[in-house]
Amino acid sequence: MCKELNVDVLVIGAGPTGLGAAKRLNQINGPSWLIIDSNTKPGGLASTDTTPEGFLYDVGGHVIFSHYKYFDDCLDEALPKESDWYTHQRISYCRYKGLWVPYPFQNNISILSKDDQVKCIDALIDAALDARVANTKPQNFDEWNIRNVGAEITNIFMRPYNFKVWAVPPSQMQCSWLGERVAAPNLKSLVNNVIMNKVAGNWGPNATFRFPARDGTGGIWTAVAGTIPDHKKRFGKTGSVTKVNAIGHKVKLEDGTTIKYGKLISTIAVDSLVEMMGDSRGVKLSKELFYSSTNVIGVGIRGERPERIGDKCWLYFPENNCPFYRATIFSNYSPLNQPANNIELPTIQLANGQKADAAAKPGPYWSIMLEVSESSMKPVDQKILLAESIQGLINTEMVNPEDEIVSTYHRRFDHGYPTPSLERDGALSELLPHLYDQDILSRGRFGSWKYEVGNQDHSFMLGVEAVDNVVNGAVELTLNHPDFVNGRKNTERRLVDGAQVFQKQNLELRQK
Ligand SMILES: Cc1cc2nc3c(=O)[nH]c(=O)nc-3n(C[C@H](O)[C@H](O)[C@H](O)COP(=O)(O)OP(=O)(O)OC[C@H]3O[C@@H](n4cnc5c(N)ncnc54)[C@H](O)[C@@H]3O)c2cc1C
Repeated sequence: MCKELNVDVLVIGAGPTGLGAAKRLNQINGPSWLIIDSNTKPGGLASTDTTPEGFLYDVGGHVIFSHYKYFDDCLDEALPKESDWYTHQRISYCRYKGLWVPYPFQNNISILSKDDQVKCIDALIDAALDARVANTKPQNFDEWNIRNVGAEITNIFMRPYNFKVWAVPPSQMQCSWLGERVAAPNLKSLVNNVIMNKVAGNWGPNATFRFPARDGTGGIWTAVAGTIPDHKKRFGKTGSVTKVNAIGHKVKLEDGTTIKYGKLISTIAVDSLVEMMGDSRGVKLSKELFYSSTNVIGVGIRGERPERIGDKCWLYFPENNCPFYRATIFSNYSPLNQPANNIELPTIQLANGQKADAAAKPGPYWSIMLEVSESSMKPVDQKILLAESIQGLINTEMVNPEDEIVSTYHRRFDHGYPTPSLERDGALSELLPHLYDQDILSRGRFGSWKYEVGNQDHSFMLGVEAVDNVVNGAVELTLNHPDFVNGRKNTERRLVDGAQVFQKQNLELRQK
C-alpha cells in the first residue's frame, strides 16, 4: 500500500534555498516539516562532481560572498574549523588581444595599446557629456553599458563578453538588476591611471573569498544538510516529486508516497513546477521567462602549475578565439581539488590532440574549469565542445600544445542562468502571487528567477525568509527588495537567536 505523510510545511529541493528553509524550520521548532530532493546528494546547482581520476569540479565558478550573518552562522556551524577553509585573494584578469587586463576591464584600460586607450577615453568622455543632459533611464543592458563605460569599451568587452555569459544579446536584457554588480569607472582616476601607467586597485564585493578545503562547494551543502535531523530528510527516489496537486495540497513522489502539506516551499525551477501542477495559467506565464544552460568543462593536466598561471583564480574571455567566457584555476582553490602527486595516471592526449605514451605516471597535477553558456540564441555543438575548449585553451595561452591531459570532464546543466530579460518582471509579478495564493512559495535561483538574488547566500536566505513568511507573515526582503539587501550587511537574523542564546548559555553552564 502507498504511504501517506502529512506535514505543515513541505520543502522541495535540498539546494541552498531548500536547506535555508530547513535550517530555519529546525531552529524555530514550530510547524511540522520535511525536506525532500530527487538527488541522493544535497547541494543542487551548488554541488561538486569528482572525475574517475580524482579531479573535482563545481557547477562553474562558485565564490561565496555573503550579504547575511545568518548564512555565515550556518556555514560556520557546518564547517567550524579553520582547517575546513582556505581564504583566497581574488586574482582575476580579462584576456584581450593577447594581454591579461586586470579585472574589472573597464577600470584598467591603462594596460591596452595606446590606440585602444585613445578610443576608449574618447568614448568615455562622450558618455560623460551625454550623461549631463540625459533625462531618460537606459532601456536595456546594452544602453546601460554605453552610458556607463562608453561605446568603445562596450564594443570591445561588455557586449561580446556578456553575450558569451548570458547567451542573450545585452540589448534584450533589462538593466534594473545591475546594482552593485558592474564596476562603473571613474573617468578622472581612469585617465590618471592611463597617464601614470597604473592599474586600479581591487574592486567590488568579493575581493577575498573563502573556499572549502574538502569536497568543493558541494562539501558546504553536504555539511549543512548534515546538521539537519535525518528523519526530516528524504533524498533520492523517495524524495522525487512527480506531481503537485495544489487544490488538494498534496504532492506525489516517485516511490508512490503522497505528502499532504499546509504550505509548500518549492525550489524546483518554476517552469517545471507549474508543469507538474498542470496549471495552465502558470505555464503560460512561465513561457515568458528565459534561461540559459551552462556547460562545465574540466581539464586535468600533469605538471607543475606554470608560472604564467600563477595564483590566478578566475579569468574572463570576451573574444571568439575560445568558446568559454570564464576559466577557473580550480586546483588553486584547494590542494584536494586534484589527485595527490603520487597518484599515477596515464595521459589521455596532448593538448594539441596528439596521442601520448599511455603509461601511468605520477603528478603533480593542476586543473582548469571552463564555463560555456548555451541557449536558443546561442546554440552549442555538444559533440565538439570539449575539443573546441581545449583548442581555446591553447589559443589563449592557458595551456601549451604539448601539455599532458590526464582527465577531462563535460556536463551540461539545463537551467544555468535565469535571464533578467525585458519580460521577466512582468511575468514574475503575476506568476509568484498566483502560486502564493495557492499556498505555494516558489523560491530560489530558478524558483523565483531573480539573478540579482540568485547566488548561494541569497538563495539560502530566500528559503529562510519564506519560512518566516509562512510562520509569522514576515516580509521577504531578499525576494522583494534585492537592492536593499545587496546594499547592506544583513545582520538581524542569527542562527542562535533571542531566548535560544540564554538556553545555550544555561546548557553550557550546566555542562561545566
Ligand atoms: C554557472 C553557475 C555559477 C554560479 N556561481 C556562483 C557564485 O560564484 N557564487 C554563488 O554564491 N552562487 C553561484 N551560483 C548560484 C548557486 O549555484 C545557486 O545560488 C544555488 O545553487 C541555487 O540554489 P537553489 O536551492 O535555489 O536551486 P538549486 O541549486 O537548483 O536546487 C534545486 C533542488 O531541487 C531539486 N529538485 C528539482 N526537481 C525536483 C523534483 N521533481 N523533486 C524533488 N527535488 C527536485 C534539485 O535536485 C535541486 O537539488 C552559480 C550557479 C551557476 C549555475
